[in-house]
Amino acid sequence: MSSSKNKKSALQETKSDPGLNLSQSSAEKIKALRRKSKDIQKLTQGILNGNKTDLSQAITLIESQSKRHTEDIKTVISTCLPYSNKSLRIGITGVPGVGKSTFIEQLGLLLVNQGHKVAVLAVDPSSSVTRGSILGDKTRMEKLVQHPQAYIRPTASGESLGGVARKTRESILLCEAAGFDILLIETVGVGQSETAVHSMTDFFLLLKLAGAGDELQGIKRGIIEMADAIVINKADGENIQAAKKAKVEFNRALHMYPSKSNGWTPKVKLASALKNEGIENTWNMLSDYFTKVKSNGFFKEKRSSQNKFWLTQTIEDSLKKEFYQNENIKAEFPEVLEKIHSQELSPFEAADYLLNKAKS
Ligand code: GDP
Repeated sequence: MSSSKNKKSALQETKSDPGLNLSQSSAEKIKALRRKSKDIQKLTQGILNGNKTDLSQAITLIESQSKRHTEDIKTVISTCLPYSNKSLRIGITGVPGVGKSTFIEQLGLLLVNQGHKVAVLAVDPSSSVTRGSILGDKTRMEKLVQHPQAYIRPTASGESLGGVARKTRESILLCEAAGFDILLIETVGVGQSETAVHSMTDFFLLLKLAGAGDELQGIKRGIIEMADAIVINKADGENIQAAKKAKVEFNRALHMYPSKSNGWTPKVKLASALKNEGIENTWNMLSDYFTKVKSNGFFKEKRSSQNKFWLTQTIEDSLKKEFYQNENIKAEFPEVLEKIHSQELSPFEAADYLLNKAKS
């Protein structure tokens, strides 16, 4: 009662202040803006204090399609930016069923037990079809999800790869600002998403199965080329011999690629995520990698070139979006397509025409 009275009198004061000359609605707007900016400040502070609920809320804003949320989150990200960049970003890919979540859970548990703070993010643009069932399943990583030093965020829901990738990158920055020093970025190795994950991580790990051909595993040659390590999972039970054989074969295959500019020779390891074997060994290899690339300067160099890539990528994405959302373009595009179809216009003339239209 008294608070509404206070609100009323504050408004009346503003209204009656000839210097300000604000209408009631603009005074309310200012109040709302102040409240909002306080909320954003609180949210940002929460993230910097490592509060997971605030972190989740901010990532929800990142994922939101609303323009207002996009504006809000920009402020959060720019305030958090100076506190990010201090983690190791590890990309993990492999086809569904290879054992990604089992492997990530074991690796995550090993790391939190060593005192690290581990965040797991997922890139899965196909989730528009699967409704996030591949990576978003709540029952995955049950033990890790309960650990106070771990944070698991399922994929951003269905959108273009460009959109999901950008959102993951922004989420990475916030996780880092919240103090997570190891980020595991998971993706399903069946599409273009590996390239996106490769371009936002320091180390790219490919999980494979022994015995199944590359086609069967849906793995393209290019992905093997991107890998800093291949871990053959499910090297247990009757699978052990096949896994050892696969290790020799992959080692041979990897030697056929030119050596990497960072001085690192990709490794092949065996693991059984189910039995928690080979996980520590994999982590030791990762540590060796980081020691090496941090001392030879490649770690910094790679991050810097990734930032350049994301700068141009973001500009291109935004120009494209602006172009296709332009009212002139929307109105004329079907007609221009028709003219290309009837060969009245060449695609190049049509492009010139539309590009000029977009400027007018
Ligand atoms: P994802 O789809 O790649 O995330 O794979 P999951 O981690 O969900 O694992 C798929 C299935 O493989 C599950 O039934 C796991 O229990 C099983 N699995 C995972 N890792 C291993 C392993 O190292 N050995 C064996 N035998 N099974 C495993």
